[in-house]
Amino acid sequence: MDMTDNKYKNIAEELKRAKHELFLFCEISNAMRASLKLDHILYAILTGVTAKEGLDFDRAFLFLVSEDKKKLVGKMAIGPKSGQKPDKIWHQIKQEKKNLGDLVRSYDQFSGKLHKGLSSLVRKISIPLNEDAGIPVLTVLENMPHKVKLTTAAKKVNKDFLETLQISDFIAMPLRGKNEVHGVLIADNPITKKAIDKNDIRILGLFANQAGLAIDNSKHYEDTRKLTELDSLTFLYNHGKFQQLLNDEVKKAFRYKGNLSLLFIDMDNFKKFNDTYGHQAGDEVLRQLSGILKKNARTSDMIARYGGEEFGIICVRTKKEHALKLAERIRKAVEVHNFRLNNHKTKHKLTVTIGISTLQPPISDKNSLIKKADQALYKGKDKGRNTIEASS
Ligand code: GH3
Ligand code: MG
Ligand code: MG
Repeated sequence: MDMTDNKYKNIAEELKRAKHELFLFCEISNAMRASLKLDHILYAILTGVTAKEGLDFDRAFLFLVSEDKKKLVGKMAIGPKSGQKPDKIWHQIKQEKKNLGDLVRSYDQFSGKLHKGLSSLVRKISIPLNEDAGIPVLTVLENMPHKVKLTTAAKKVNKDFLETLQISDFIAMPLRGKNEVHGVLIADNPITKKAIDKNDIRILGLFANQAGLAIDNSKHYEDTRKLTELDSLTFLYNHGKFQQLLNDEVKKAFRYKGNLSLLFIDMDNFKKFNDTYGHQAGDEVLRQLSGILKKNARTSDMIARYGGEEFGIICVRTKKEHALKLAERIRKAVEVHNFRLNNHKTKHKLTVTIGISTLQPPISDKNSLIKKADQALYKGKDKGRNTIEASS
């Protein structure tokens, strides 16, 4: 073989690899367009990195920056836990001759198991976003990839991360969105011990950039979806979301034999207030009232604007006696509140009437729960307002 033969052989190899990469890239891009659900996208990313037809790393891990931007939190991983039998997902990705598209489409089949196995370990990890918190965090803060061969010094810094995941040499790629770094993608080869070369880093980088944009899209979608569940005046849940939540909670209460109570809160004589001070003043009162409800409810309570000047609170794991206590706290808080408009010094005094129903015989479904709370509310109105009534 002379020099020219060798040269052509190299070019042929190079072309073959480029063709494979192009194919891979199209497959992965398509796979990531399969859904806007964040979990599905994360799964597509991890599958692309670990699949035989993908980048063929042994394991892949995803960490995302928390909403308050103070921590880097483990989200999902695919691969065998060290020293254990590979789990079913990994087995399918590695062993079965499925193409990437099919693997990503089998998400629904796996979604129940996605947070078990290696993922369950990853999800326990939360690292503060400080410069001295180790390589995964640095990757995010510097927005730069890192290839790590572990030295003793690095081991100290990454103790929690390294010990939990039994990780040694790895590569960390920032997940870049348009305006921010969403997190870090980490890949390693503890089983095959295959060395990570320059080419792996390059293609993983291209891949991570694509993944970052997919996360961008998913976040925009999630933000928009959340907004459609909220009332635009008070930012409490709207009527539609209230119905859906109540439906779900009634089912759960039956399944787990849990307690469930519902509060209906209605402003007293609010028409008169509107007629006197105008609707804008009325709107401001409704905003202040929603603030009072948020302040007095517990974190597990779900607060909604049912409609007009009527609010609903779904109280999970709550017996009638505790619902009565919560209602009294709210009634009192409204009674003592000074409603001021546009920082005007005039204080307006307003009150609410509250109706309560609890899921217990004869109340056995969502509709009768609503109906009974409503009836209790009207009983309270009849009794003269600024009061609480519970259905029997
Ligand atoms: P009651 O004590 O019996 O509940 O009397 P009420 O006047 O509060 O009840 P009614 O049902 O007669 O009137 C409710 C009023 O609430 C009518 C409307 O002017 C006002 N309202 C409903 N939704 C809004 C809103 O979004 N903004 C404002 N400003 N007012 C609203
Ligand atoms: Mg009213
Ligand atoms: Mg009303």
